[in-house]
Amino acid sequence: MKRCVLTAPAKINLYLEIIGDRPDGFHELAMVMQSVALADRIEIVSRTSMAQFTQRIQIRCNHPDVPTDESNLAHQAASLLLDRFPDHLAQLGLIEITIDKQLPIAAGLAGGSSNAAAVLVGLDLLAGLGLTQPELCDLAAEIGSDVPFCVMGGTAIATGRGEQVTSIPSPLGLWVLLGKYRHFGISTPWAYKTFRQQFSDRYISDTVGLKQRRDRVHSGSMVEAISHSDRAAIGQLLYNDLERVALPVHPPVAALRQAMAAGTDGQGADVLGAMMSGSGPTVFALLETEDQAVNLRDRVQATLDDPDLDLWVTQCSPTGITVIDA
Ligand code: ATP
Repeated sequence: MKRCVLTAPAKINLYLEIIGDRPDGFHELAMVMQSVALADRIEIVSRTSMAQFTQRIQIRCNHPDVPTDESNLAHQAASLLLDRFPDHLAQLGLIEITIDKQLPIAAGLAGGSSNAAAVLVGLDLLAGLGLTQPELCDLAAEIGSDVPFCVMGGTAIATGRGEQVTSIPSPLGLWVLLGKYRHFGISTPWAYKTFRQQFSDRYISDTVGLKQRRDRVHSGSMVEAISHSDRAAIGQLLYNDLERVALPVHPPVAALRQAMAAGTDGQGADVLGAMMSGSGPTVFALLETEDQAVNLRDRVQATLDDPDLDLWVTQCSPTGITVIDA
């Protein structure tokens, strides 16, 4: 038996701009992604005596809404490695993956993508594949657009459909308040489809224009603010195009964003900025200290007074997937 335990952290988007159409039908994006400390825990156990099992990969999860079949992104990550490295993975026998879900699902926090990234990293270790980070990211991109960032973690610029990832130094120590209504999710395909219906007349679609815009994000204002650790500017420059489709049709999410941005004094003095993450509906606020984040959590809870609202205090993290036991 071999065993490996990893953390699979959530991400937030400090910046998400939809800039155009790609020939493959996906949206061309310019994003700045950030790992946070809030994470799922992934345990991978391999057992060589598999006579009684018909399935080579088994998924267990403590969350009833997470699928445990081939549609689980962690399953897809394991299948991909079994397909590409059959000889190396033969020695592992049965692969049992247990997901201890701490992240909300369908939340815009890339929980499933992060689980897939953890399985790639964990199986690479257990099977002794010795894959480099670029090799892991290439495999990750076959599973989903956010998976390469989840493999790298920390802070990164992501372009293309999100899979072309360049690491940048992390803004150290920023605190994050996350908020999400427990029984409400937003489908990522719905958010992008609706944006296309409403705003595609502004898309860049020529190859030269897309390249120029892609290059510009590498020296954009948000990246500059991060490189100077200018926390106030990071907060002011938060941006997400998908708010334009999600907030008007989901008033509770808009109200949550407003409550977070208002801070504890109603003027937002202690909040650097607030924004929806990815396709939502999770909203986050950035703050300087843990005390401020805890105070804002209490204030938002009291203001909105909704038992369905979950709030988490966490921190920007300079790392992504971490092996905690092997
Ligand atoms: P993204 O930010 O990448 O759009 P998300 O946070 O919005 O991701 P996920 O939590 O990854 O969304 O879940 C989206 C859907 O994917 C779920 O409704 C679920 O059916 C499916 N799914 C597949 N694998 C997983 C997984 N390992 N964890 C959670 N959901 C998964």
